Parts: sequence; structure tokens; C-alpha cells
Amino acid sequence: MMPDIQGSRLWHDMAEAAGLTNPDGTIGETIYGQMTKLAADLGAVNLGQGAPGTEPPDELITATAEAMRAGFNQYAPGQGFPQLLEAVAAQRQRDFGQRVDPAEVLYTAGATEGLTAAILALLPRGGTVVSFEPFYDSYPAAITAAGGNLHTVAILPDGQGGFAPDWAEFEAVIAQVRPTIILVNTPHNPTGHIFSAEELAHIGRAAESVDAWIITDEVYEQLVLTGAAHIPPAVAIEDAERVVTVSSAGKSWNTTGWKIGWVIASPTVLKAIQTVKQFLTFTAGGPMQIGMAELLSGNSTFVAENRASLRARADVLVPACRSVAGAMVSTPQAGYFTVMDFSALTELDAFALNDLLGREFGLVGIPVPALCRPGSSAYSAYRSSIRYSFCKSVADVDQGAQLFIALGTHLREHPDALRRSR
Ligand code: PMP
Ligand code: GLN
Repeated sequence: MMPDIQGSRLWHDMAEAAGLTNPDGTIGETIYGQMTKLAADLGAVNLGQGAPGTEPPDELITATAEAMRAGFNQYAPGQGFPQLLEAVAAQRQRDFGQRVDPAEVLYTAGATEGLTAAILALLPRGGTVVSFEPFYDSYPAAITAAGGNLHTVAILPDGQGGFAPDWAEFEAVIAQVRPTIILVNTPHNPTGHIFSAEELAHIGRAAESVDAWIITDEVYEQLVLTGAAHIPPAVAIEDAERVVTVSSAGKSWNTTGWKIGWVIASPTVLKAIQTVKQFLTFTAGGPMQIGMAELLSGNSTFVAENRASLRARADVLVPACRSVAGAMVSTPQAGYFTVMDFSALTELDAFALNDLLGREFGLVGIPVPALCRPGSSAYSAYRSSIRYSFCKSVADVDQGAQLFIALGTHLREHPDALRRSR
């Protein structure tokens, strides 16, 4: 006999907040894990989880291996190795003109831990966070763990392959809930929307009007695929002291498994966040911190090459998706994903459709409603939209493209192929 696991509510509440409770009461793993398993079970090409199918730079692996041989194998300092803190501060200045003192940088086990620690530290129990929607699945789980509430503002398709936040909804929500935290993911997953300097300044003024923190999520900061520029909220927002910047190396250096991330905030705020973070992991990834510090401080050209390679893979996948007549396919400005709206071709929702496309056409993505909350305007807008990832290997992206072209051909011959009720 064991104690009643249902008596412990938090894990249940966190899963529920992230939409992982099944109709029969069982709990599923994250949508990324579920879809990776679905693709493997079906033998379909996995264009779901945003996990790169290409490798980190050799120079990074060499620097990390050398750090292991040089003895960086025990606990790093709680704030992170000074080499990494200095390298991140210099990188923010160099890439984005954000002035950062190394004392304002905290190493975290990926952006996920940084976001969770910042939310746990800054959100009072019963407090409110406003985030744009769709959102990364860890946000609602972390907010629930902190005993807070999430309110959302939709980022909606603009009908021309791009997206725009619903600013009328933003004004209304801020005035109504007066949040403690506004969470801004730019460039945004899954839409690739890059918040402009004006949009960020507007968010800054809204935050000031209700005295809210702004927590950022900039994990796609290096992966801008067009002529646009990523602008950190801390640069665009005048009152930068209320901004807590979160980012990580996973997406830009193909090291999602290393979990090297960072939080940047003024020292008193950073101390509060570190106080929480030290009891989540204390510290992790010592040799990888050193390897990444060396890469960030050197003359590596990897990020530019990675961006060009991603753009080339997007240029294969996106036109192939467009060969499916009637589907609306987004033009990604940044990040790893294109969003494909099938609503003109099917009455199925994205979950059922993703299943059908996996089983019959060998294509698995992430249903966008999984990144929304049932009942919201974003949930309805993305009801039949699936996110496809072009960060996979060249072979997988090529195979995915061929399968979309085959799907387009099939639908020309059988226009009702996605309409069957299931
Ligand atoms: N935020 C967004 C928007 C993401 O897509 C991801 C996935 N990488 C994360 C945060 C988590 O980043 P990390 O792997 O560094 O924890
Ligand atoms: N951030 C990645 C994505 O959006 C997945 C991260 C994860 O698997 N938790 O696909």
C-alpha cells in the first residue's frame, strides 16, 4: 500500500494548467513528448518538437570537453561561473546594445528554469500574470506552482501570412486584471512574431501604469530569418528596471539538451530570483557553462551559419506546405516554425487532424490549440492549425516537404480527404 497520490494536489494542478489532464482523469506528458511518441509509433516524420536535427558547433564541443578535462566537473558557483556571466553580459551589449553588468546575470538550467524561478520569486500568491497566447507550456504550470492566475492576450493571424497581437484585448485585460507580471515571448513561439520597438514601448507603458514586472522569453533571439531585428524588451522599454530578461543557448547553438540559460535583472531582483533558483537545481552544467562562455567570447561565426541553414530549410518546407491548396501557411519571421491553418479544408480540430495526417500522410506537428486555453479567442482562431518545425535535419525537412507535396496532389484528386468525420 502506498499513500494516496491524489492527495497531493500540486502536480495535478500544474498538469491541468498546462492542459495535460485527459478526459479519463489520467495525466499526459507535455504535448512535445506526446507528439514525438506519436511520430515514432506511426513511423511518421516528426516536425513537432522544436528540437534541432542539426549539431552544435565543433568548437563548442571541443571547448566543453576541454573544460571537463580541466576539472570543471563539480558544483559551479550558485550564480554561475564568472566566465559565463561576463560572456553573456558582453554578448547582450554586442548583439543588441543592452548594457549589462556581469553582476546582473544568473545562470539557469535553460530558460525554463529561469522563467519558473522568476515567476516563483516575483508573483505573490493569488497574483496575476498576463501572457500572449499561444504560449510555451511551462508558463501556466509555473504560475500555478506560484499560486497565481494566468490571463492571456491573443496573437492572431493577420490574413497575409503574418501575425499581430490583439491590442484592444491587451488594453482591456491589463485594465481589468492589473497584473503583477506581463510575460513577453519575442520572437514568439509558434508564430515567429517579432515585437517591434513601438509594441514593446507600449507594453512598457502599460506595465508602468499598473506597476507590473515584465518577464521576457527571448530563446529565439538569434534566429531572425528576415531583415527584421530582435529588440530586447529591456532595450525598448524606458523603465528597464522592471524588466527581467530570460534567454538561453539551446535554440541558437543547437544545444537544447545542455540547458544553459540565463536571467538578467538588477542585482536586488536577481538576488530574489537566485534565492528561489538555488533550491530548484542549485546549479548545473558546469563544463557546458565554460564551453559556452568561450564560444560567446570568441569570434564564432556559427550563429550566422545556423540562421542561414534554418532559412534554407524554411525555404524548402514552407513552399511545400503551400502546395496544399486552401491551407493558410505562415511566413515565419523568426524561430523554428510555420503555422498551417487547415480550417478551409476540414471541420476536424487540430488534434484529430494531426492524428489523421500522421496516420495517413506520415506528417506529425504540434496542434496549436495545445498551446492555448480552451475557450479563449486564440483557441478558436487556431482550432484547425498545426505548427510544423523546420529545425529538423535536412533529410527530415526534405522528407516532410515531399509528404506535403504528396498531400497537395492527393487533395486535388480527393478534395474531401480531410473532411471524413472520425
Ligand atoms: N520558451 C520558449 C518560447 C520555447 O520555445 C522554449 C523551448 N526551448 C523554452 C522557453 C525553453 O527553453 P530552454 O530549453 O532553454 O529551457
Ligand atoms: N520549446 C520546444 C518547442 O516549442 C520544446 C521544448 C520541450 O520539449 N519542452 O517545441
